Amino acid sequence: MSLTSIRPWRTIERRKSRKIHVGSVPVGGDAPISVQTMTNTLTHDASATIKQVLACAEAGADIVRVSCPDVDSTLAMKEICRESPVPIVADIHFHYKRAIEAAEAGAACLRINPGNIGSPERVREVIRAANDHGCSIRIGVNAGSLEKHLLEKYAEPCPKAMIESGLDHIRILQDNDFHEFKISVKASDVFLAAAAYQGLAEATDAPIHLGITEAGGLTSGTIKSAIGLGNLLWSGIGDTIRVSLSADPVEEVKVGFEILKSLGLRHRGVNIISCPSCARQGFDVIETVAKLEDRLEHIKTPMSLSIIGCVVNGPGEALMTDVGFTGGGAGSGMIYWAGKQDHKIDNDKMLDHIVELVEKRAGEIEEGAKSDA
Ligand code: SF4
Repeated sequence: MSLTSIRPWRTIERRKSRKIHVGSVPVGGDAPISVQTMTNTLTHDASATIKQVLACAEAGADIVRVSCPDVDSTLAMKEICRESPVPIVADIHFHYKRAIEAAEAGAACLRINPGNIGSPERVREVIRAANDHGCSIRIGVNAGSLEKHLLEKYAEPCPKAMIESGLDHIRILQDNDFHEFKISVKASDVFLAAAAYQGLAEATDAPIHLGITEAGGLTSGTIKSAIGLGNLLWSGIGDTIRVSLSADPVEEVKVGFEILKSLGLRHRGVNIISCPSCARQGFDVIETVAKLEDRLEHIKTPMSLSIIGCVVNGPGEALMTDVGFTGGGAGSGMIYWAGKQDHKIDNDKMLDHIVELVEKRAGEIEEGAKSDA
């Protein structure tokens, strides 16, 4: 029996969407919710862009988007796509030729709004290139760049206008018998974005790319994204996510995973459960957790670790985690292994010891997964 079936309050019923592919990554249907980010290097600087793509992939990004504003960028795309371990999405605005060049260069997906690229013939050319090179398309509606006629009709960016824009773009692809697409309706306002996504989710079975656009800096943007995306994901909406921060793209990936981890939708790496600390703490919780986060970054195996300052909450939290440490008195604390009290360790040796134990437990989990397969 799965954990979710015995704890129904944790169950999230995902909206049923069609499955498409972004290169090797399935999006929609029963596929895991993928985490995306976007590079902020100059795309024509292929080596800087590849370096950033690799860092994002190492942090767990399933898909990385790269902006293609000019020919030099699409020229660099060939090398970027070849060197990237994850599928690359080419971000295109208006210039249909960049879309064709990006498809030819190996992009796995084109982010382009077919209604914005001009004549039906241009649209057909882009779709032909996508078909010829196995690219999917993301329709990316943004509250900040809605079509003029919709702004005139609705007076301001609103959920109805965004949904109508999305459905118009969808129709163009469908009329051209193209169905490998996903769609986003982003806004920087969480209320607007959430309402638009909710309406969109009812109006189409296309996979949905979630994002709160221009969310802000690391702290404010993380909170805004957690509220906006968290609310939608919790109600089952969303097949792939991008957290948009004015920060290093690696941070976007980390925040994306943390949001999914909080909702039990994806698991990756060590989920550290730690207390805020107070006068009862038997060791410096804050400093220890900061050091552990750093030293455990290489662990990709989903597992949990509790680091709790004292016995008020330590044993209870440790019950539910793979490895636990609870502060005690006299410069030492208790190690828990698979929820059970195991042995004592001095505070000054605890850091290295916990890292060793987590690595050991990760190895066991990996071995178990192999023998189950
Ligand atoms: S677990 Fe103990 S140390 Fe941590 S905040 Fe609670 S009472 Fe304070």
